[in-house]
Amino acid sequence: MKWAVIGTWKMAYDGVCKAAEILEKGGIAAEAVLAGCSDGEDNPNYHSVGLGGRPDRNGRVFLDGAFMDGDTLRFGAVAGLEGFRSPSRIAYALKDEDANNFLAGPGAAIYARAHGFEERDNVTAEGLAIWQKEKDRLRSLSAYDGHDTICFTAKDRHGTVCTAVSTSGLFMKEYGRVGDSPVAGCGFYADSLIGGAAATGMGEEIMKGSLSFLACHLMEEGKSPMEAANEAVWRLDRRLRQKTGSCRPMSLICLDKEGNYGVGTNILFPFAYACEGQKPVLLIAEPADGKTIIRNV
Ligand code: ASP
Repeated sequence: MKWAVIGTWKMAYDGVCKAAEILEKGGIAAEAVLAGCSDGEDNPNYHSVGLGGRPDRNGRVFLDGAFMDGDTLRFGAVAGLEGFRSPSRIAYALKDEDANNFLAGPGAAIYARAHGFEERDNVTAEGLAIWQKEKDRLRSLSAYDGHDTICFTAKDRHGTVCTAVSTSGLFMKEYGRVGDSPVAGCGFYADSLIGGAAATGMGEEIMKGSLSFLACHLMEEGKSPMEAANEAVWRLDRRLRQKTGSCRPMSLICLDKEGNYGVGTNILFPFAYACEGQKPVLLIAEPADGKTIIRNV
């Protein structure tokens, strides 16, 4: 198929529609994945990304974002960025730097300001109200429902694969905490000779298995995207249970260089997909005996 795009969670559906329109008209994969992330970043009703994102323990919203170009393996990433509209687009700009491609905290903000990126207070009244209500209940950091990362991987008509991700990370995270999302190979990866992958879920688990790189590596070795995503997630899930007795939620999307998708997850996980000749669909992946099965919503 000439083009394809996949996105994480129900919140990616509108973004997948926008990306599909761009790809159908001949637009490039970078433009498509960024349009998807921006859709999530600008929607105050999605409480784990951009505007209205989940506050940290002190009631401040810090964002992580990343972009990777599968033709060159160039990537850019920001972590712990406060007060800007689009971490994914700042990450996109950072990929063109010779070095200093991954900036954190005030350094990322200085770069964004110097390059004219739009500033925005991402704390909303609604986000703050949820924070107020939950803050006494959540004394310890846990795999609480209030996180989720919006991730997109797309392949365009030229055969380029790109991945972009955007998140406010864990709700009630400690000041300075960074998850897997902006870490190359963990939260995102793309190589146009293979495909792309991106992860969502408990970053502290995902980083233990470098899930996105692992899925791409397995595809390069000949696994289908579905086999690769499954094996990456369940291999790490089994290993963590063996070593520590438990494994927290993790979900992985991937796309091969032909545009076929794969998903691996150890929890119920909705995702959206579109490709040439197929309208965007919302699907659900669910774990079943160490495998992942996909069904229609
Ligand atoms: N992976 C993200 C993090 O750990 C959160 C998520 O995707 O649910 O920051």
